Amino acid sequence: MAAIQRKKLRACRRATEKLDFFDGLPDDLVVCILGKLSASASSPSDFVSILLTCKRFHRLGLHPLVLSKASRETFAIRAANWSDSAHRFLKQSAGAGNVEACYTLGMIRFYCLQNRGSGASLMAKAAIKSHAPALYSLAVIQFNGSGASKGDKDLCAGVSLCARAAFLGHVDALRELGHCLQDGYGVRKNVAEGRRLLVQANARELVAGLRSMTWQPQLHRLCSSTTTTSFCCPLLSDFGCPVPVPEVHPANRFLREWFGLGRGGLGHKLRLCAHGGCGRPETRPHEFRRCSVCGKVNYCSRGCQALDWKVRHKGECSPGEQRWLEEDGGGEIGGGGGMEMVEGEDDGENVIIG
Ligand SMILES: [Zn+2]
Ligand SMILES: [Zn+2]
Repeated sequence: MAAIQRKKLRACRRATEKLDFFDGLPDDLVVCILGKLSASASSPSDFVSILLTCKRFHRLGLHPLVLSKASRETFAIRAANWSDSAHRFLKQSAGAGNVEACYTLGMIRFYCLQNRGSGASLMAKAAIKSHAPALYSLAVIQFNGSGASKGDKDLCAGVSLCARAAFLGHVDALRELGHCLQDGYGVRKNVAEGRRLLVQANARELVAGLRSMTWQPQLHRLCSSTTTTSFCCPLLSDFGCPVPVPEVHPANRFLREWFGLGRGGLGHKLRLCAHGGCGRPETRPHEFRRCSVCGKVNYCSRGCQALDWKVRHKGECSPGEQRWLEEDGGGEIGGGGGMEMVEGEDDGENVIIG
């Protein structure tokens, strides 16, 4: 009797093994599951491994609904791995309406591939959907007149974009807006309000830093493996509290790596923003402002300059070496103080940042 039961059980198990329940799932359910997986992918290889699982995952993984939900990290492509297929993947994801893909591809096209029109319109597509980094990047482009001539700077547009990004919680935009108000740059001067925004930016940074304190062991490991030391330096000395520098957006990391590898796009006499977490290059000679004390470093924005001053340049900046004056034929030197910058172009406009 027991032997018959065992036989029946074995037969039943074999029959169950032959059945693949997964095949019975409808496509829309699989797409929904893949959407959740792509939203939590922590790297491009995470997403690729989903596609490589089976033919069905490969087919449905590239469905617009899945691509539209993919996480920011899915598009954190390393510059060394840039290829036509990576470009196609970003393009397909941007076409599916993924704002992170729009922004990342926009930055790459604008700065690395010299396709300014397409890059700016992709960033605008992300900005319309309230993507704060895209709004801030467009603000930087407007402030500098990037991709066009110096006369194409639109300071008012830069301030409005910055204000929108700051409202959405973008700390760099908040800091930039604070400096604009303090200096009356593109907006009516209001020193007290500017100062208030700068304090708010510092406070937000402090909160973000304290939140990430529990991550510090990992951060330190990451930092020890990078060649740039600027990502681990104590920030917010104003508060006497050493906290890690905010995380770098994958698009900025891509830019930094791209130009670090010398993969092209950076023309003669064009310089990179000296802030290690930025990676933006000049699009014409003397586009960026330079430090008025040493004249050795250039920045795309006052936000980058203020941050780099705190984490790195404060310890390196030394007056006296002013050979750059002859080399650049650039703007006038502002009065003392490491937090002062001069326009890179020969318009004599000094911009003081607090
Ligand atoms: Zn910068
Ligand atoms: Zn300096």
